[in-house]
Amino acid sequence: MGGKQIKIGVLAMQGAFLEHCRMLNECGCETAEIRKVEHLEDLDGLIIPGGESTTIGKLLNEFGLFEPILHRARAGMPIYGTCAGMILLAKDIVNSTQPRLGLMKIRVKRNGFGRQVDSFETDLKVRGIGNQPFRAVFIRAPYVESVEPGVEVMAEFEEKIVCVRQGNFLASAFHPELTGDKRIHEYFVNMVEEARRKSH
Ligand code: GLN
Repeated sequence: MGGKQIKIGVLAMQGAFLEHCRMLNECGCETAEIRKVEHLEDLDGLIIPGGESTTIGKLLNEFGLFEPILHRARAGMPIYGTCAGMILLAKDIVNSTQPRLGLMKIRVKRNGFGRQVDSFETDLKVRGIGNQPFRAVFIRAPYVESVEPGVEVMAEFEEKIVCVRQGNFLASAFHPELTGDKRIHEYFVNMVEEARRKSH
């Protein structure tokens, strides 16, 4: 890696943030739990975890974090959203006007896998992380209904898009922090390293 250790923040408003920190530490990154604007200052990248997207959005508003995160994102800071985090990154959310960052040109459907199948696990082929299937955990997960040009589809499950990348932004409908497989976190850490190299 060389130079200063990569520092990645995990938004800690609500939801599954501790598990992301653990995974990132295992990838050799420094981590920080993000609750205030000041916490954003020295970050190289940010993860928005799963949870309840309406609650996280409300708290982002209350804590005045929307604009500062958008500002850093536009200046090139990579962001990875999992599940509710994916919803918060989306430009369009089916049947919802809830607050969002809207950085990714994707249209998502919340709770897209129906109520009967609240949670499930499956082996996914994810492009860009090697040939071994990735054990993906879905919990009341959204899916991506459509993408605009510039968005790369990295994984699909039963013809539904569940992992996408658009430049410095990455989003997955599933929770890679809940398995022992670090490959998606490593993929994001590589994105962050690359962005940092470009900015120096
Ligand atoms: N169903 C939640 C939402 O719409 C997302 C669930 C999750 O993040 N595990 O915000």
